[in-house]
Amino acid sequence: MILGAKHMVRLALALVVMTSCGSAAQPAADGSVEATATHTPAHWTYEGEEGPEHWGKLDPAYLQCIDGTAQTPIDITAKSTNDVADPVFGYSTGAADFVNNGHTVQAVPAAGNTLTVGETVYTLKQLHFHTPSEHAIDGVKAAAEMHFVHQSEAGVLAVVGVMIVAGDAPNAAWEPYVAGTSTPKGGADSATIDWPALLPAEHITYQYEGSLTTPPCSEGVQWMVMRDAVTLSQTQIDALAAAYEGNARPLQPIGDRDVVLDTQTK
Ligand SMILES: [Zn+2]
Repeated sequence: MILGAKHMVRLALALVVMTSCGSAAQPAADGSVEATATHTPAHWTYEGEEGPEHWGKLDPAYLQCIDGTAQTPIDITAKSTNDVADPVFGYSTGAADFVNNGHTVQAVPAAGNTLTVGETVYTLKQLHFHTPSEHAIDGVKAAAEMHFVHQSEAGVLAVVGVMIVAGDAPNAAWEPYVAGTSTPKGGADSATIDWPALLPAEHITYQYEGSLTTPPCSEGVQWMVMRDAVTLSQTQIDALAAAYEGNARPLQPIGDRDVVLDTQTK
């Protein structure tokens, strides 16, 4: 496994990202409260004076947004095929609560969904979306990108990205999540989600070490972007965009990082 956790993301930072600006008292995905943060994080946006090019100056806690050397998203171009641990999904159908945090809409599942990579077991904390995609693959962005955010017991984050492209038919498995994205900020809704059915048929991923794509842009995040996209109808994609459009951070320099295509065949 090349993706060693050389920069551990401290739990405090993980809790910051799981809450949102302007809602510091809201419980995090794991039920804890953002009590470890020393101040309320600065408000940020995707455009204007609080947009991505300014994030690093809005709050001392956001310095990595400009100072970081392993930031996300990237354009996935050169890929090596070194042998790496394949992600193994232990997902099952279950209830999820929707949280509109002012930047995206999260589906927060009940406990029990896991992702195992090598020796490390991560727990699925939440799913959210970006329109358009944040990553590009060979210079091409998709209509949307889904992020399945996982956390290990040691506090390391692993995010699985799934590209969304438009097709003719609605995607029934994704419909409960798409419907949930209409949950207003501060509102509460829930649904049953068939988590394994949200993934593409083949779980082949581009793996690299990056960061959160929102402030505080913490590094040490294990990224796995699925090679294969999932198809939603244009109506479903429009529903995502109606909730949040343009909530994608611009591409970041890849630097000297390697992107590795895993060898999994299923
Ligand atoms: Zn994301």
